[in-house]
Amino acid sequence: MHFTIILTINLIYMTLDSKIPKGPIKDKWTTYKDKIDLVNPANKRNIDIIVVGTGLAGGSAAATLAELGYNVKAFAYQDSPRRAHSIAAQGGINASKNYMGDGDSNYRLFYDTVKGGDYRSREANVYRLAEVSGNIIDQCVAQGVPFARDYGGLLDNRSFGGVLVSRTFYAKGQTGQQLLLGAYSAMNRQIARGKIEMFNRHEMLDVVIVDGKARGIITRNLITGEIERHSAHAVVIATGGYGNVYFLSTNAMGSNATAAWKIHKKGAYFANPCFTQIHPTCIPRSGDYQSKLTLMSESLRNDGRIWVPKNMDDAKAIQQGKLKPTEIAEENRDYFLERRYPAFGNLVPRDVASRAAKERCDAGYGVNATGEAVYLDFAFAFERYGKEQAKIHGISNPSKEKIIELGQAIIEEKYGNLFQMYEKIIAENPYETPMMIYPATHYTMGGVWVDYNLMTTVPGLYCIGEANFSDHGANRLGASALMQGLADGYFVLPYTIGDYLSDNIRTGKISTDSQEFEEAEKEVKDRITFFMNNNGSKSVDYFHKKLGKIMWDKVGMARNAEGLKEAMAEIKAIREEFWKEVKVPGDANEMNLELEKAGRVADFLELGELFAKDALDRNESCGGHFREESVELDGEQKGEAKRNDKDFAYVSAWEYKGEPSDAVLHKEELEFKDIELKTRSYK
Ligand SMILES: Cc1cc2nc3c(=O)[nH]c(=O)nc-3n(C[C@H](O)[C@H](O)[C@H](O)COP(=O)(O)OP(=O)(O)OC[C@H]3O[C@@H](n4cnc5c(N)ncnc54)[C@H](O)[C@@H]3O)c2cc1C
Repeated sequence: MHFTIILTINLIYMTLDSKIPKGPIKDKWTTYKDKIDLVNPANKRNIDIIVVGTGLAGGSAAATLAELGYNVKAFAYQDSPRRAHSIAAQGGINASKNYMGDGDSNYRLFYDTVKGGDYRSREANVYRLAEVSGNIIDQCVAQGVPFARDYGGLLDNRSFGGVLVSRTFYAKGQTGQQLLLGAYSAMNRQIARGKIEMFNRHEMLDVVIVDGKARGIITRNLITGEIERHSAHAVVIATGGYGNVYFLSTNAMGSNATAAWKIHKKGAYFANPCFTQIHPTCIPRSGDYQSKLTLMSESLRNDGRIWVPKNMDDAKAIQQGKLKPTEIAEENRDYFLERRYPAFGNLVPRDVASRAAKERCDAGYGVNATGEAVYLDFAFAFERYGKEQAKIHGISNPSKEKIIELGQAIIEEKYGNLFQMYEKIIAENPYETPMMIYPATHYTMGGVWVDYNLMTTVPGLYCIGEANFSDHGANRLGASALMQGLADGYFVLPYTIGDYLSDNIRTGKISTDSQEFEEAEKEVKDRITFFMNNNGSKSVDYFHKKLGKIMWDKVGMARNAEGLKEAMAEIKAIREEFWKEVKVPGDANEMNLELEKAGRVADFLELGELFAKDALDRNESCGGHFREESVELDGEQKGEAKRNDKDFAYVSAWEYKGEPSDAVLHKEELEFKDIELKTRSYK
């Protein structure tokens, strides 16, 4: 499918080809697989593929490509693939298996994902995602991933926000860790066979383009500082999301945008940078010297109820430490999600829940000293489960204490590690007093633009997992990131990349002695030399924090045109100061965390401005992007986000042109043939 767009600067027509196969949505993927070109097994042995990133997306891709017979070189900046940020995923992974018999289907998962993403994703990709979701569970079970099972030994499911069925497979609160161990063991088998060459502690600092095709990367060995050249017939970027542009987020401290940003600068379009997810259930910020935020899994919203005091006096007393939540009577509590969204209640999607919490806190009803927290209360769940357990165990007339004890044991079984984590951080027992939560930056739906094949606008350069702009539109539903990462890595890329590589069977080894490698390496070395010699007066974190504050205040949960223009100018000013004043201590030829951070923050300082520019262009509220100018003014949806399908049903794909403010917008118009565009109501 071709989308015609006008480049206003050059006044020429260009096409952004999303390569969606023709035919009914249900047949697209099958027909596509039947018709694409394949590489025969003997030829695969002569083809090299670079996979940058070995989280769930990259790890699953590397293992599968090697299993298929390609020679894979895999790169990660951690000391082992096991430490990728994917390990942090808590709540679960979606699949439309319909094991619970509650009416789930591929279509429903597709529908929920497109609706949850506020109709800003590509239908064909999302349908494919739903279609392969069941395979992921089979694959992972075969690898030995210990998904939770019910009493009879069958795989158990729970529910996540934005859906009316239970389709989330989970391994306690450690789903990402268990899935990553599965992918890692699949990788290890290939490492042992010599089919994957693993480069731990290597950071990709640039991509090398030869004759218009991605042919390699430049890396820095993070232990020795050595700069290396690596070549391949195709390059896959699987380097995760850019949530750390906000400085404080639930992402791992090392999560960064460098690989994605570097390929953007070499020709890959960057899509929907302003689509970021603010997760409603995080442990609130405690002060100015914090460097990380912690997620409390969304799965907790299955059993916890969210509330703030109904009366301002109670809220004030709580903020001042004069009143405890357990002392507030039931009728004086405002279960604001249940009140505003009776159909979905506490399980509304993340964007809706986050904004509702912010609204209550902005109105003065927040429940910690900073006024930026709401309660997540399990008291009802203790009682509900306790009564059920008493019946199961034949305990007649159980005391209230016994009921609570039995109920707490069930909650502990389901979420024990999350409760423990909360207690360690907040020093309060969440079994006795409700948890406090507040929204925090968590996930980025935006990312590198890819076509149906997961190829970027640079031939031979692919992008998978959270790093691409992918399938989640303007808002990702819970437990769908793991699904997408593993779908990309195990079941999509291994097919689509073959179609491209079938043209490369006679190419032979790619030399690293070319001028293109020489130039890319020089650029990388020059930048490192600059950092080491700049000798400014301010630390890298100084700039990162400043950027994060602007992003949170002006490009955060709510945005307006004035604030976004200010943000763009302020970020540019910080960037200029950064290049004058940044100080990087230590040496380039050793392990140097400040040097690593400097490179990453330099990229965030460019990405942040494009992010604000994209948010400014999108003068509508959709999903995780809430424009204060675009709000429903009356009717049942009064006060809710107002989407504008007439003018904004497109993917924004930005082309690099030097300064972020000069980036050129290409629009991929979104077509909805299988889902009717509706107002997203969870009421
Ligand atoms: C706290 C938390 C809980 C979550 N829980 C869930 C959940 O329950 N369900 C769900 O579906 N999703 C969840 N998510 C989202 C999900 O975990 C991520 O979207 C997903 O794991 C991303 O996987 P990935 O493979 O794309 O990237 P990552 O796991 O981030 O892996 C990135 C890889 O790239 C490498 N890398 C990065 N930059 C470079 C570079 N320049 N050079 C070399 N290597 C590089 C890293 O070393 C790493 O190997 C959660 C997210 C968070 C923050």
